[in-house]
Amino acid sequence: MKAVVYEGPRQVSVKDVPDARIERPTDVLVRITSTNICGSDLHMYEGRTDFEPGRWFGHENLGQVVEVGDGVDKVQVGDYVVLPFNISCGHCKNCERQLTNYCLTAQPEPKLAGAAYGFADMGPWAGGHAELLRVPWGDFNCLRLGEDAEERQSDHVMLADIFPTGYHATEMAGVQPGDETVIYGAGPVGLMAALSATLRGASKVMIVDRHPDRLRLAESIGAIAIDDSKVDPVQAVLEETTGLGADNGCECVGYQAHEPDGQEQANLTMNRLVGSVRFTGRIGNVGVFVPQDPGAGDELAKQGQLAFDYGLCWFKASTSAAAKRRSRSTTGNCAT
Ligand SMILES: [Zn+2]
Ligand SMILES: [Zn+2]
Repeated sequence: MKAVVYEGPRQVSVKDVPDARIERPTDVLVRITSTNICGSDLHMYEGRTDFEPGRWFGHENLGQVVEVGDGVDKVQVGDYVVLPFNISCGHCKNCERQLTNYCLTAQPEPKLAGAAYGFADMGPWAGGHAELLRVPWGDFNCLRLGEDAEERQSDHVMLADIFPTGYHATEMAGVQPGDETVIYGAGPVGLMAALSATLRGASKVMIVDRHPDRLRLAESIGAIAIDDSKVDPVQAVLEETTGLGADNGCECVGYQAHEPDGQEQANLTMNRLVGSVRFTGRIGNVGVFVPQDPGAGDELAKQGQLAFDYGLCWFKASTSAAAKRRSRSTTGNCAT
């Protein structure tokens, strides 16, 4: 089969690789028909992770089942399925608590938890930027789609990561009906967080970015666009909220946050969120942060550390919940 193989920083090429195949009775084999390029893929593509050359990306996958193992009961050949990017067994200690993004079985490295298709430090699993994908624990990991699956696959493929990740940011931020919510980052995940905040009944959704196309899209779903290349976003949020700050906020940018001139500053969005959210407000963080970032420009960031405004965060009794993106469960893994 063909796959888009990672060869080193900023280098990928389409190559012939061994076909994905059924390896265990619980596997399902999927012919990929839609797959996205994620912001997480770009961190890996740019060489800002330890993703190994020779592997391929692709964790946002949708396709048609072409073969099932003997131990698969529900999923059938011919089904269109979308695959939540977190691979999980469904029966370990964490999966039983719905923390499927921290599955202990799918991650062979004992110091880690959680697995994903074609992802640095998330197990050995191949990605879906290829013609075929092996899906382990197929009955648990395949979400079967309805009759409109083929025709609406570009909508359904959003369920692999982007939409539930955006939704999860609002879950961790505790968005309630009537809330005023701010979102940093108007990429696909930030836009889905804005849409999710609206679905949860937020009365005002503000979104901070500097790309005019993204800001226009944000406005088209009813959010107030704040252009941080033109105004101080913290000040703009305070003005929109009678000086109190937003009830809650979502971080949808991650460790490669940067100023409009391109200067990276990993603590930029977290500190702006602390400034933007009211006393006792909550922050949900789904942007990617990593324990080591050798490609970072400063010493702290190389060690995965931030100069975080902890004093102000403590003083305001803000709560912050962070998690690798997840598709099914709903609670944060660390709270300050
Ligand atoms: Zn993704
Ligand atoms: Zn598990």
